[in-house]
Amino acid sequence: MRIVLLGPPGAGKGTQAQKLAEKLGIPHISTGDLFRDNINRATELGLEAKKYLDSGDLVPATLTNRLVDDRLNDADAAEGFILDGFPRSVEQAEALKDMLAARNTTLDAVLEFRVSEQELLDRLKSRGRADDTEDVILNRMKVYRDETAPLLDYYQAELKTVDAIGSLDEVFARALQVLGR
Ligand code: ADP
Repeated sequence: MRIVLLGPPGAGKGTQAQKLAEKLGIPHISTGDLFRDNINRATELGLEAKKYLDSGDLVPATLTNRLVDDRLNDADAAEGFILDGFPRSVEQAEALKDMLAARNTTLDAVLEFRVSEQELLDRLKSRGRADDTEDVILNRMKVYRDETAPLLDYYQAELKTVDAIGSLDEVFARALQVLGR
């Protein structure tokens, strides 16, 4: 299955993505993790991306799209994947459509994890990642509203919404249910 996960920062996408990947036997591809890995290894891409992660802004499309296109070439992604954190804008969604078309394939599902803004703020402040300070969080939420939320309309036809408030296992069960697994 080829699945895209959508949802604001703090919705628990990453954790659910990992559990789904394990259950479905497909790789979890997180652009945030890929960027952080490049930053830790001080690669050229990492050096370029760091200032955007530090401020909570989107890394420019050219860098991001190349990163994903390269990752989709890895053998483990040939039969399916869970994309977590990509696409994050309509521009990226168009790029993804082209990447999939070039591989003669399409998405099977787009899963939206839905959480209220107050719950999100509470969760993020207790998480403690380097980019989880209040002003960076608020900027990431603004970027989500402005750039990413339009994807909910863009993917209207394949969108399945999951209520992301509840225990890890409850949310996971809901995700499997909407995927028909
Ligand atoms: P969260 O979902 O909690 O915001 P992520 O790990 O998904 O965390 O993303 C962290 C940061 O990585 C983003 O704020 C952004 O700077 C960068 N990033 C991740 N994915 C993308 C993307 N698809 N396009 C541009 N920037 C991205």
